[in-house]
Amino acid sequence: MTLQELLQYGKNQLQEADILESEIDAWYLLEYIINIDRAHYLLNPNKKVEEEQRIHYMDCIRRRKIHIPLQYITGVQEFMGLPFHVNESVLIPRQDTEILVETVIPYVKDDMSVLDMCTGSGCILISLLHHLKEKTDMKIQGTGVDISNDALMTAKRNAEKLKADCQFIQSDLFDKVGEKYDIIVSNPPYIPTKVVEELMPEVKKFEPMIALDGDEDGLFFYKKIVSQSQYYLRGQGSLFFEIGHDQGDAVSMLMEQAGYFQIRVIKDLAGLDRVVCGKIE
Ligand code: GLN
Repeated sequence: MTLQELLQYGKNQLQEADILESEIDAWYLLEYIINIDRAHYLLNPNKKVEEEQRIHYMDCIRRRKIHIPLQYITGVQEFMGLPFHVNESVLIPRQDTEILVETVIPYVKDDMSVLDMCTGSGCILISLLHHLKEKTDMKIQGTGVDISNDALMTAKRNAEKLKADCQFIQSDLFDKVGEKYDIIVSNPPYIPTKVVEELMPEVKKFEPMIALDGDEDGLFFYKKIVSQSQYYLRGQGSLFFEIGHDQGDAVSMLMEQAGYFQIRVIKDLAGLDRVVCGKIE
C-alpha cells in the first residue's frame, strides 16, 4: 500500500464513522505513525508503506472510529507551546485554559509559591513554571494537587520531561495540603451533571468523568475550593479559576461572600467569560 492509499483509507473510514474533522485526523495519525511531514508526503505520495506501519495505522484508525480522542491515541497535546503527555487518566488540556495561565503570569513574583488544585496532566503548573523560568530569573515553588494517583503519575512524567521543578501531592482538595501559598490556581471539574450527558462521545466516553463533572449545578468544586482556599493562602494571596462561560457571576459571588476582593472576570478569545480571580486580605 502507498502513503496516499493509506491516507485515503483513513479518511474514508473516519468519514463513514461520522468523525468530525476526519481528514485532519487521518493525516495526523499518518504523521504520527510514519513520522513524515506534509512536504515529504506531497513529494512521495506513492512511496510504499512498511507492513508494520500499515497495521499500526489501521489500528489507530480503528480506535479513532470508536471516538477515542486523537490525543489519547497519539499520547500528546500541545499546551502553551509545550508537548504534554496525555492518557485516559487526565483531561486533555484545552486551548481555553491558556487564558488562565496567561492571567496568572503577571501576578507571580520572585520567591512566591503556587498551588495548582486539580492539576490533572499538570499542564497549568508546568507551563507556568516553564514560562517563568525561560523569561525571568524568578525562583518559584510549584505544587500540583490531584485526587487521582494515575493523573499525578502523568503530571510527574510531564514535569520531568519538560524540566519543571515542582512537587505533587495526592489529596482530595486541601485534605493533605499542609502549607500556605501565594497563588492558588485551579481548573476544577465544572460541567453540570446533566450537561455531561450532552457532550460529544470523545469527551463523555473517554475523558475522566471525575475531571469533568461539577455536580448538579457545576459549582460543587468552586464552593469547596473558595471556602477552604482562604486558609491556604498567605496574606494578599490570589485565587484564580477557570470557569464555564455562564459561571462568571456565580463564582464571583462565591468569592465575594468568602471575603475576596478585586474580583475580576476575564473573557476568552471567543468573548466568553473564562477566568475569575480575586485577592484575599
Ligand atoms: N488542570 C488540568 C487542566 O486544566 C485538569 C483539569 C481537570 O481535571 N478538571 O487541563
